[in-house]
Amino acid sequence: MLLLLYIRICSFMIDTHAHLTDSVFSADRDAVLADARDSGVTAVLTVGTNLEDSGRCVELAQSVPMCHATAGLHPHEADLWSDRNAARIRDFLNRAVAIGETGLDMVYRTCPLDRQIQVFKAHIQIAAETGKPLVIHCRDAYPQLAEILAESGCPECTGVVHCFTGTVREAERILQLGYFLSFGGMLTFKNMSNLREVFGQMPVDRILLETDSPYLTPEPHRGKRNEPKYIGKVYEKAASILSVRMEDMVRLNRTNSYRLFKIGPGFERGSIGYRIRDSLYLNITNRCLNRCLFCVRNRSPFYFGYHLVLDREPEPAQIVSAVASSSGAEEVVFCGYGEPLMRPETVLEVARRIRPYTRRIRLNTSGFISPAVNRKELADNLASVIDIVEVSLGTPDPRGYAAICRPLHPEPHRIWDQVHDFIRTCIAISGWSVRLSCVDYPGVDIEKCRSFAASLNLPLKIRGYRS
Ligand code: SF4
Repeated sequence: MLLLLYIRICSFMIDTHAHLTDSVFSADRDAVLADARDSGVTAVLTVGTNLEDSGRCVELAQSVPMCHATAGLHPHEADLWSDRNAARIRDFLNRAVAIGETGLDMVYRTCPLDRQIQVFKAHIQIAAETGKPLVIHCRDAYPQLAEILAESGCPECTGVVHCFTGTVREAERILQLGYFLSFGGMLTFKNMSNLREVFGQMPVDRILLETDSPYLTPEPHRGKRNEPKYIGKVYEKAASILSVRMEDMVRLNRTNSYRLFKIGPGFERGSIGYRIRDSLYLNITNRCLNRCLFCVRNRSPFYFGYHLVLDREPEPAQIVSAVASSSGAEEVVFCGYGEPLMRPETVLEVARRIRPYTRRIRLNTSGFISPAVNRKELADNLASVIDIVEVSLGTPDPRGYAAICRPLHPEPHRIWDQVHDFIRTCIAISGWSVRLSCVDYPGVDIEKCRSFAASLNLPLKIRGYRS
């Protein structure tokens, strides 16, 4: 029974980087694929390393629905590049979802670096022409790699740097250029605590998971041949680093794989209710009176595998139905890609309707509310149906708030006082649980947030900006 539950949770796992055409799989490839399927893997990206291998990947993808191919020349094989071979790669790309594996390798220089660079640039050129994403290999060359991508003359090109092992700073440069980073079995290695730290700081809308089979087998299978069936171990470690559920990682990798490679079942647009960890969040509006520099909306329409841009604001009945169709959450939280109190009547109506069957209801708000709303009356009404109100501080001083949260108001430096007033109004309601939060974004004075919260005797949650 428990095994069945685990398999159900883990279904729709995707291995975004494997070498299924490697000769180590020649004798039992069908069994390897069957084992992967039985473990809940629904898609594998099999990555070509040279022309013959790319051809085999494309053939495999044509004969096995769960397989998808790439075509390219690995930096170790860059000496084989020629106009004729470039034409063959272009031809393969009609039946492949990405170009690569290409890139730079400063560890195993089986091919001179200037040749690797030349061939990498040629792959970028083909990516620019075809619109296909790049699958990039990089060993000890992240700064050079980022420089080449930045100067490629193809700002719309994208792709993934697979099996990333660099620093946070190196990751940020690659992320700024619009690329994804992929992580594999090394996350599970005992001596890779630095990599786990880096992984924990990555924006979740830009990470992918892989096995790199037959290499880099995750613990506890290290020493054996790696196979896509072991991807679950990578998911488990990634979930534990991010303190999320396995389901959260499955959804995250599924959505990101689809966004980059168009493989897998894709994602639902404009989620209203979205579950992460033990909380069910409600995304009821995309409107807000602030334009915070740290807002996740500035970075991506996706969060933890959910697409949160609404075509239109949902009716209360749709929101209630989103709560009813999700089970097991510890709490329901009004918090989405906008300020819930842009729709105060909707928050109140939904909270009243879900109250009888919801353990705890929380409202996350900026506390910057339309002047047309009576703050005292609103707080009283909210306190009657909502258990916890959590107010985001931005940074607690008039000028800092105006600079970081950028309120849409002719006198933005006056808004912090309104927020402060709202917090005091909430505190004054007997028995209501009030919390504060801030984001560790550059310019947010965390110490000031701490002392402000302490002065009001309120708990403060500090949220990580990167993650
Ligand atoms: S208040 Fe919240 S939703 Fe509005 S801009 Fe700031 S972070 Fe984004």
